[in-house]
Amino acid sequence: MKIFCIGRNYADHAAEMNSKVPSKPMVFMKPATALLRENKPLYYPAFTQNLHYEVELILKICKNGRHIQPEFASSYYKEIGLGIDFTARDVQDKCKEKGHPWEIAKAFDHSALLGKFVDKNTLDSKEIEFSLSQNDTIVQKGNSKDLIFDFDTLIMYISTIFTLQIGDLIYTGTPAGVGPVAIGDELKGYLGTEQMFNCQIR
Ligand code: MG
Repeated sequence: MKIFCIGRNYADHAAEMNSKVPSKPMVFMKPATALLRENKPLYYPAFTQNLHYEVELILKICKNGRHIQPEFASSYYKEIGLGIDFTARDVQDKCKEKGHPWEIAKAFDHSALLGKFVDKNTLDSKEIEFSLSQNDTIVQKGNSKDLIFDFDTLIMYISTIFTLQIGDLIYTGTPAGVGPVAIGDELKGYLGTEQMFNCQIR
């Protein structure tokens, strides 16, 4: 399985990173070893001093496809989930500065927290509210209506470059409010009011 992640897909987050809004989806990948299952702790990696959370809506691909036409894109996922794209921000800043690839900042072990999924038909995909709390204080709030590239556009675009396969995941980008975590923190993700994950930082 493949894990796709989208960078700068909310204008307010691009602004907080002093980054421009991209004209095409900005895609990067994480390996399967990046997965961190719901309710498992994350051990703070030794190679960073500035580990950040980025809460994101996730699509789970349910059939194989390439060059998917926009009118069929929504049939390629049945479930929507919530997770975190953990980022070693200090390492990422160095990679960006040097123009280097950023896998070491983004694709390390357990950098892709995967919470629960819900049937997409229980949601209005154009208006999904989600949030993240850190020690029970809400730190990020997002809504799929603010996506620069919506779910169907992402599926269409990615599938022109990579064959999508059953089980692949697409982390669709984070809204504003990203910030550092500390050992001892508890992160909880919510889709509306439903709790989708609980992650302790150790
Ligand atoms: Mg992200």
